[in-house]
Amino acid sequence: MMGHRQVEQATLFYEFSLERHIPTDHVLRSIDRFVELGELRRALAPFYSAMGRPSVDPELMIRMLIIGYCIGIRSERRLCEEVHLNLAYRWFCRLGLDGQVPDHSTFSKNRHGRFRQSDLLRRLFEMVLRRCIREGLVGGDGFAVDASLIKADANRQNGIEGEKGLPPEATGRAVEEYLAVLDDAAFGAATEVTPRFVSPADPAARWTGAHGGQAFFAYSTNYLVDVENAIIVDVEATTAIRQAEVLAAKRMIERSMQRFDLYPARLLGDSAYGSAEMLGWLVYEHGIEPHVTVFDKSVRQDGTFSRYDFTYDHAGDVYRCPGDKMLTTTGTLVNDGATMLYRASNHDCAGCALKARCCPKESARKVPRSIYEGAREMARRSPGRGKVGSLDDYARKSRCCLPISSVSSN
Ligand code: SF4
Repeated sequence: MMGHRQVEQATLFYEFSLERHIPTDHVLRSIDRFVELGELRRALAPFYSAMGRPSVDPELMIRMLIIGYCIGIRSERRLCEEVHLNLAYRWFCRLGLDGQVPDHSTFSKNRHGRFRQSDLLRRLFEMVLRRCIREGLVGGDGFAVDASLIKADANRQNGIEGEKGLPPEATGRAVEEYLAVLDDAAFGAATEVTPRFVSPADPAARWTGAHGGQAFFAYSTNYLVDVENAIIVDVEATTAIRQAEVLAAKRMIERSMQRFDLYPARLLGDSAYGSAEMLGWLVYEHGIEPHVTVFDKSVRQDGTFSRYDFTYDHAGDVYRCPGDKMLTTTGTLVNDGATMLYRASNHDCAGCALKARCCPKESARKVPRSIYEGAREMARRSPGRGKVGSLDDYARKSRCCLPISSVSSN
């Protein structure tokens, strides 16, 4: 027998508790326990007028942003729709059943305006980190550093040749932000090399083929991770180029020292951080043991002796060649003051049976030695050097600090 839908209109008033309908094991419940946003209102106070209509509560927008980052909703428009419709999101945002969700344009305006000017997201990040330190989750003894490429919201097909530069009619927020960081060593001043293409929609994004496939416009997000519990202790965005990533690593290490008294004894990193200058900075300036793959191009491919075939004698500050002759230095620095040259004597090399395998085209062999060679040696000898899990691994393992990903304003 075909049944009828029973439409009952008996109850006039319903009692509905959002609290009762959110499962106890919902991810937002776990996050909610640790979200303390009281300080944020104080930090934002100077950015609001004392008069006029009350604004949208900044705490509501921050809670919405946290949902976006945690659930992976990258579009502001969609985030507003989802918060409007999803009971758990409403509960997390303290909106109740009836609360008004801000319009996506208001949301976008605040994020790009007040939130950015007040450095709100960094304050929020540091607030969480401080809590992690208080709870004893951060060891502070060993850090790992790495960078991830984040694809920019810029169509690769619309790129214009870097040599031509931006057209004069290019305007807008993205262009203003690009001009503002032109002299910043983490962006415009990171390299003198002109990129092959520039995006008029987001000119600060860098054209990169670092992933090996099709090149695209991207930024780098750099992370400093405490290895004890994979807690991210600092994060910084830069242009997608190695020099800028190395600079970000230095800035993050120094900032964690200044703001949180975290003085790591060792740093893990891949060969991107293995330049002689960076290793010297770690060892000589900060006493940090580098567990980093040394960036080394000294191995010769033409069959002649490489630098490692020569033995350095610390006591005498000389090299011994495979023919057991001495290479000495005058102490003169070359290569912008970063390298000393050690030279064998013409007399020794002229009569040497190994000359064809050593310096067939020169009268005597020269061996360059970096002024940071001691730091490079230390890195070569360190156990497990360069064994850094990918950043994504750390981000996955990280239980308290969330990687700051981008949310687009679409
Ligand atoms: S060529 Fe000169 S530097 Fe090379 S092995 Fe012979 S003596 Fe030593």
